[in-house]
Amino acid sequence: MKNRAKTVGFKPGERNIFFHILTACNLSCRHCYINKKQHGTGQLTKEQLEQWMVLFADPNKKSNMIFLGGEPTLHPDLPFAIKKAKELGYFVTVDSNGYLFNDLLAKTTPNFLDYLSFSLDGPDAETNDPIRGDGVFDTCVANIQRAVSAGFNVSVIYTVSKKNLNALDRMVPLLLKLKVAKFFIQVIGLRGKSAKGDSEEVTQVTRQQWLDTVPEVASQAAEKGIHVTYPKVFLLPDEKFECAGAVAENFFIFPNGRVYQCPLCEDHPINAYTIQNNQLVKNEGLREDSFFRLNIAEGCVMNKLLQPDTIEYDEKGLPLYRISCCLLKQEIG
Ligand code: SF4
Ligand code: SF4
Repeated sequence: MKNRAKTVGFKPGERNIFFHILTACNLSCRHCYINKKQHGTGQLTKEQLEQWMVLFADPNKKSNMIFLGGEPTLHPDLPFAIKKAKELGYFVTVDSNGYLFNDLLAKTTPNFLDYLSFSLDGPDAETNDPIRGDGVFDTCVANIQRAVSAGFNVSVIYTVSKKNLNALDRMVPLLLKLKVAKFFIQVIGLRGKSAKGDSEEVTQVTRQQWLDTVPEVASQAAEKGIHVTYPKVFLLPDEKFECAGAVAENFFIFPNGRVYQCPLCEDHPINAYTIQNNQLVKNEGLREDSFFRLNIAEGCVMNKLLQPDTIEYDEKGLPLYRISCCLLKQEIG
């Protein structure tokens, strides 16, 4: 099937706030990217939730607020934060592992929460649970059904690794059955746990495996009316490279006050900003943003520095392809 996916460039004037409101989680997924040494173990207070959202609110820009953790529904003030985010003009999403603690569905409404996103890494318990934990598939699916019945817009995030790539196509009938409107396919990152080499099977797929599978499954889902988003990863020779850190506004906020512009940098103390005393402070010295404007043949500088094994070279030492910004997406459906 021909893939009609469009590359969605970075939108000027749009900002995305990825707000990790705590790092605690009830699960311990094999590819978890939370790194408590770097991101702390804290949980923001109700006051901080509001004050930090105010720092990034700009009525002149379309702003997306994505609440993350750890597991964000473990925070008892999440419903308050969702309502505040909506009042501040954000398009609001919560990314949950499916457990929906603190009775979230009863304590918020689709008027405040634009999308509720669930993480599933397999179309059945046999695929999902070895990655995310025993019993997780059944809990997550039951809560997706409850959320859809309660009128919430629901999306599903699937993190592709060697362990579950072959099961990706079987997600399409499951999503249809569950009435899920949007499907986000992610590529596993070599950060946090997956960077430590202690989860051999939960590692990145090869370029060929990715290209042979992901666009085809995305097309199949789109044909059935599901909107699919997946990362570009590999640029074609005529496609332009852009670093989101240089041309877009993305902020990845952690409860210890670190604010990154690039998710690949999150395992290192090179965050461009820090929130101190409820103010956003620009950090001095060699920081992630020192690298964003470097122009290299391999595309993304941080990918080249942090995961050089993802790049293949010809006999003259030239890269066979460029790696796109990890934030560049393809959309279809
Ligand atoms: S649900 Fe998310 S935060 Fe929790 S262990 Fe899994 S990947 Fe990590
Ligand atoms: S992933 Fe690469 S291209 Fe994207 S923001 Fe980070 S350094 Fe820039």
